[in-house]
Amino acid sequence: RIEATDLKRSFGGRAVVDDVSISIGAGEILCLLGPSGCGKSTTLRLIAGVERPEAGRIALDGVTVCDKSTFLPPEQRSIGLMFQDFALFPHLSVCENVAFGLTGKRAEKLNRVKELLARVDLERHINSYPHELSGGEQQRAALARALAPRPRVMLMDEPFSGLDNRLRDGIRDETLGLLKDEGTAVMMVTHEPEEAMRMADRIALMRDGRIVQQGAPYNLYNSPIDKAAAAFFSDIN
Ligand code: ATP
Ligand code: MG
Repeated sequence: RIEATDLKRSFGGRAVVDDVSISIGAGEILCLLGPSGCGKSTTLRLIAGVERPEAGRIALDGVTVCDKSTFLPPEQRSIGLMFQDFALFPHLSVCENVAFGLTGKRAEKLNRVKELLARVDLERHINSYPHELSGGEQQRAALARALAPRPRVMLMDEPFSGLDNRLRDGIRDETLGLLKDEGTAVMMVTHEPEEAMRMADRIALMRDGRIVQQGAPYNLYNSPIDKAAAAFFSDIN
C-alpha cells in the first residue's frame, strides 16, 4: 500500500509538485494522468526516493520511508521501479539482470527468470546482453526485472510507451494482471487518457503540480470537474 501525504517539491522557485496526497491499496492500480510537464514523473520520483521532497510524508506498506526526519534511499523502500530511464545493467546478461533482485536457491531463481521472460516474450534472449537487444526488448527485460522480486509496491512511469502496438496491449494487460493477482499496489503514470480509462481502478488527474480530480474512471469521464478535464477525455469513445 502507498500512502503519500502533502508532498511538495519545487525547482527554481516554482512548485512542480504542490501538496499532492495519494493513497493506493494492495492490488489497486492508480493511473496518474495529466498534460506534459504537470509533475507526474516528479511525483513518482519522490515516492521512489530518487528525488527528495521539501515537505510531506510517504509510507510504503505501513513503513514510513520519508518524512521530516526520515529519508530511505530507493533500494531500501522495497518497491519495483519501471521508469523510461531506468536502464538495464549493461555488463550483465538478460538472465542476470532479471535475477538481480532475487534471493534464494539458484534453480529457483532461474525458474522465476524463465517464467518472467516467457511472459514478456524474451525467452530466446536469456543469455543476450542489453546492447544486443532492441529498445523494445530492453524495455521488456526491464519489466521482467522489476516484476521478479514480487514487489508490494510498483511505480511505473509510462512503462509501455516505447513498445509497438502489436506487443503493447498484450504485455500491458499481462503485466498489470499479474501485479493485481499478487496484490501489488501499482501507481502508473501515463499521458494517454485511453490507457488510464482501460487499466485504472482509480485515476488521479494532475495539472500544474496539483491533483485536481481523483476517482473511478467512469466518474472522471462522466463528471469531469471542469472544461479542461472534459477535454482530456473527449477523444475517447
Ligand atoms: P511528461 O508527461 O512530459 O513526462 P511530467 O508530468 O512527467 O511530464 P515532470 O517530469 O514531473 O512532468 O516535470 C514537471 C516540471 O518540473 C517540468 O516543468 C520540468 O521541467 C520540471 N523539472 C522536473 N525535474 C526537474 C529538475 N531536476 N530540475 C529542474 N526542473 C525540473
Ligand atoms: Mg514524465
